[in-house]
Amino acid sequence: MPHILIVEDEPRIAAFLEKGLQSSGFVTTTVSDGAQAVPMAIDGNFDLIVLDLGLPKKDGLMVLEEIRGQGAQIPVLILTARDDIQDKVTGFESGADDYLTKPFRFEELLVRVRARLRPAMAASAQANDLTLRQGNISLDLRTHKVKIDDRPIELSAREFTMLEVFMRNPGQVVSREQLLNSVWGYDYDPGSNVVDVYVGYLRKKIGSSAIETVRGMGYRWR
Ligand code: CA
Repeated sequence: MPHILIVEDEPRIAAFLEKGLQSSGFVTTTVSDGAQAVPMAIDGNFDLIVLDLGLPKKDGLMVLEEIRGQGAQIPVLILTARDDIQDKVTGFESGADDYLTKPFRFEELLVRVRARLRPAMAASAQANDLTLRQGNISLDLRTHKVKIDDRPIELSAREFTMLEVFMRNPGQVVSREQLLNSVWGYDYDPGSNVVDVYVGYLRKKIGSSAIETVRGMGYRWR
């Protein structure tokens, strides 16, 4: 399982990243300042780094310059609160592989993380891990194609991500909050009924018995 180093000092965003990445099948380790991140980033135990730019002790760009300076080739995805073109240019010049401006949806991050990990994953012959199968449903994480009994099903990007969260947590109650975080992002209004609406869409496409409502708690994949 790919191991991701999260370098983020804002607890709410760190928790959002951890939850989302873990429920998408990654192992995560989080540190909240730049000084701690450098030795961890170069020791070779991680497959990718999600690096916030505004960090205590040592900012993200310094972290990036140091780890590249030491020859570490690990993919780095930068997060920044500022949609500043100069930040972006400096980030790429310092050796970032990709860039995401806050606020972002988890889905956007996941696409970038997977794109960066793909060569490494293919090389380690874990290609089978990129297809999730349960019962008669298969979900291909590379092509975003879903099939039921070899019959293709058309899902929107959000429906796909929601189905993936369910399939990674079979038999477990998945809360509305967890779905909101994974599919919509941490800035989404928690009072919204958008999760229920999308569960309705998914049930229509894959069969109503697949997702059970657990009153007061959320949903369970069967
Ligand atoms: Ca920060």
